[in-house]
Amino acid sequence: MPENPFTEPPEFLILIPVVTISKSALMGHKTKYIFVTGGVTSSLGKGIISASLAKLLQGRGYSVTIQKLDPYINIDPGTLNPYEHGECFVTEDGAETDLDLGHYERFLNIETSQANNITTGRIYQNVINKERRGDYLGKTVQVIPHITDEIKRCVQLLGNEYDYDFVITEIGGTVGDIESLPYVEAVRQLKWEMGKDCLVIHLTLVPYLAAAGELKTKPTQHSVKQLLELGVQPDILVCRTEHHLTEELRLKVAKFCNVDNNAVIESIDAATIYDVPMLMEKEQLDKVVLEKLGLKSTGKADLDKWRAFVKRHKQPRAEVKIGLVGKYIELKDAYKSIVEALIHAGAENEVRVDIVWLHSEELTAENVAKNLENLQGLLVAPGFGERGIEGKIEAIKYARENGLPFFGICLGMQCAVVEYARNVLGLNNAHTTEIDPKTEHPVIALMDHQKSVKAKGGTMRLGAYACALKEGSLVREVYGSKLISERHRHRFEFNNAYKADFEANGMVAGGINPDNGLVETIEIPDHPWFIGVQFHPEYKSTVAGPHPLFIGFVKAAVEVSDKTLVAGR
Ligand code: GLN
Repeated sequence: MPENPFTEPPEFLILIPVVTISKSALMGHKTKYIFVTGGVTSSLGKGIISASLAKLLQGRGYSVTIQKLDPYINIDPGTLNPYEHGECFVTEDGAETDLDLGHYERFLNIETSQANNITTGRIYQNVINKERRGDYLGKTVQVIPHITDEIKRCVQLLGNEYDYDFVITEIGGTVGDIESLPYVEAVRQLKWEMGKDCLVIHLTLVPYLAAAGELKTKPTQHSVKQLLELGVQPDILVCRTEHHLTEELRLKVAKFCNVDNNAVIESIDAATIYDVPMLMEKEQLDKVVLEKLGLKSTGKADLDKWRAFVKRHKQPRAEVKIGLVGKYIELKDAYKSIVEALIHAGAENEVRVDIVWLHSEELTAENVAKNLENLQGLLVAPGFGERGIEGKIEAIKYARENGLPFFGICLGMQCAVVEYARNVLGLNNAHTTEIDPKTEHPVIALMDHQKSVKAKGGTMRLGAYACALKEGSLVREVYGSKLISERHRHRFEFNNAYKADFEANGMVAGGINPDNGLVETIEIPDHPWFIGVQFHPEYKSTVAGPHPLFIGFVKAAVEVSDKTLVAGR
């Protein structure tokens, strides 16, 4: 029997903050460091392998965190276009980070922080700041040792300050790239210094040549050679493949790459990323890791809850169609956390959420009904800039007028406010000043302290802020709590000068920031389910703690679908 999510406190509210990790299963031992490098090609899924190994170690009672080192020169991915890099994931402490950190949090149900994502830009910035301060006075500042020392310091920070049993560090990019050389050199040095407390997992590809009808090991051999040239002998090889590896092939890879026979691990393509911990367990990745680090490897990881979730996800009793309106939909990674949060909420409701991707630029007053009439819910995604904005507003108008469950996130909420101002309050041409700085009715506008901000990196309202939920509101009912905390990433805000007008006309503020009075959520009591939130709830949904707003939204969609069935439509 799946657990009933509605009778339990939402676990996401009790995510374990990084700083309170105390109990160490390694009592008295040093933190163990595991590096995950990638070879042959990018996109082999280092993040998922790292998160799956971490899940297995966590399931054995160890405290684990995962870190991503990104070899690009941006200080953080906050200034990157989602087309370049997918979603920007925001941590509690307001760091704009790589989307892999989202996987880490979703798999482990722990929080990450700024310390979990370091880029080359940040490493150089730290070193240059130290140089200006005079820390290296008299010395020539060089890639080795100064840059590599800074990389090593950032890696060890998590072990030294937070006392984790395991720190798993994923090195972005592919071995052999010029830009990842200092990282591989830092790994080489750490491996030498730490001996048995450190190991390297290399993820490679074993391609299948259809014409030859064979799996090929040569790319793996070459990428291990490349690592060896840099002085790093991998301890474990994880081989991504479309077909099962034969015993013979494993032995061949082991022999050519100097790894133990049981350290050649198969990573076969999976139906869902949530299968990967179980696949890695079957391959005994956790056991091999523990043995190599000189730790007890008997017994098994406790994955009962995880397995129950995967079962609910894979065996839904029904399906609901939810439209996701955005402007980056060609690249689904741009909405990674939203997609995963819908999967978590679907499993809680025992339904499969079928996402219908809707390009905001293509929605018009003429075609909106045709595009939305078969949906059971509408989610309007976050975003920046003018492109596609009117399509979002049209979609929201349809959802509002037709009782279709609506969930607006960040820009999605701002568009709902603009739509309501124009079409219900009669404030013609109302807008957000992000798009129309001279609008007559700036219902969404910049707060005073943002007006003077010119620099782009890390200057938005970022990270966790408190929000008080009003008695009797739908958000309060959905959360089952009167005070919540959610993560933000935006500059513009609901303009409180219009609040009374909105509330008198049926759109109310359910959630207010208790410190500055900002409107953080809006809703329409006279609608089956219409909520807009200025924050990003998707960042806090995890497998163990699906987010209440997503659960409530999917539940409302299920109700629409049930009603439609009863009505025989
Ligand atoms: N562009 C909007 C703002 O900066 C919304 C941002 C978002 O959706 N994350 O306020």
